[in-house]
Amino acid sequence: MSTRAKSKSPGPERTEERRGLLRDARSRLRHELDEIRAAQGRLETGSFSVCEVCRRPIPVPRLRAVAWARACVTCRSQDERR
Ligand SMILES: [Zn+2]
Repeated sequence: MSTRAKSKSPGPERTEERRGLLRDARSRLRHELDEIRAAQGRLETGSFSVCEVCRRPIPVPRLRAVAWARACVTCRSQDERR
């Protein structure tokens, strides 16, 4: 049985790429946090979990996936086609 030690450190360009991934993850999470805060605001105004486009309640399975969703799947997919 051989235990292969991963002693090779990534090259400089690889390190930069890895840092970039971390930056991407951070900005993604920051954006999600903004969306969550906005959703909390909508909770107070009573418009939370209501589709901004068709004004119908967003189905719970959709909210399970994205609790801060602004639009239902139908409206969202129409929006993405633009
Ligand atoms: Zn909708």
